[in-house]
Amino acid sequence: MRTSIALLFVLNAALAVVPAAAASKKAKNVIVFLADAGGTSTVNAASIHGYNKAQSLYVQNMPNIGLSDTSTNSSWVSDSAAGMTAIVTGVKTENGLISMGPDTVRGKKDGTVLKTLLEEAEERGLATGVITNVNIADATPAACYAHANDRKKAGEIFLQVFRPRYGDGVDVVIGAGRSAVYKAVKELGEDLDAVAAAGKREVRQALSDVPAGELRPIVVSDKEPDVAAAARLAIERLSKNKKGYFLMIEWDAHTDNPKKGLDNLVGMDKLIREIAGTVNLKETLLVFTADHSFDMRVRAGQKGEPLLKGLDEWREKTGGKKQVYLDLPNLRLFGSHTGEEVLVAAQGPGSEQVKGFLPNTRIHDIILQAWGWKKAD
Ligand SMILES: [Zn+2]
Repeated sequence: MRTSIALLFVLNAALAVVPAAAASKKAKNVIVFLADAGGTSTVNAASIHGYNKAQSLYVQNMPNIGLSDTSTNSSWVSDSAAGMTAIVTGVKTENGLISMGPDTVRGKKDGTVLKTLLEEAEERGLATGVITNVNIADATPAACYAHANDRKKAGEIFLQVFRPRYGDGVDVVIGAGRSAVYKAVKELGEDLDAVAAAGKREVRQALSDVPAGELRPIVVSDKEPDVAAAARLAIERLSKNKKGYFLMIEWDAHTDNPKKGLDNLVGMDKLIREIAGTVNLKETLLVFTADHSFDMRVRAGQKGEPLLKGLDEWREKTGGKKQVYLDLPNLRLFGSHTGEEVLVAAQGPGSEQVKGFLPNTRIHDIILQAWGWKKAD
């Protein structure tokens, strides 16, 4: 008798706690995985390429999915600049612009500076990070930490790592393009190492150069960094911040080199699976999406045979690695961005808002709402 009363008490207490906990379920950390040009047809092909099986990627099995419109303020087809600007600022702008509004004159005149998710996090004292396998001043990472009237202004873009508008600026920065970034900064009459030193930071060459205790490492390598190793290092550093963190991880999935593009997406998917298994999903929102789609699709093939059958022969015939046009027995591509919706897959607090057809700008709002920084609509 006594036991059952005690049990009832415990059950009641548990029941009383559950609804309140569910109502206040907020994200502490947010990780955005951005497959550049990784549209739905590329996700489909990556699963077949990687596993010879449909829908075997982790992102294809995440609990909440939606389809995001990637059109810009005025064009049906987006580049990485407008695509990422929409995701991180909630505003559709024009191609070529880095987190600036459509009132900008590209390359000539600044427009409205749009606050990014990374800046929202910095403003509130969270830790922030940006990782990419390509140039760290390229449009996708740039749109998180910088504002520019032209994506080509790499020097002006990268210097904003050291001249933030909010907080102390992006904490963990890892990407490629070292010589190009140094050159672009030099062309502005500045010395990158001196700028970094003035901010008590150092632009390191490789992940292995980062000292164990360094909480705000900057790594800009010549070669493509190991994205998975970079992500582990970043999460280890960023999660030391008690308030939480924002991390954006870009992995290029352009398939004009189809093997590389599909391998990248399979690698990224493995990383997402790993991270989903190591972070606390009760307090960490994971979002996978693409900035725009790409004109590549599976057009034939038998289950069991390699998707990229005939690629080597095609390369020998055409002599190039990157293809503008590629016509294989099972796969066809015409190397340009395309305008159809891309997948958004999400898991963790706030992810239930990812559903149906949605504009890319909604991803921004969903993330802010998950943090509790914007009212639910
Ligand atoms: Zn892109």
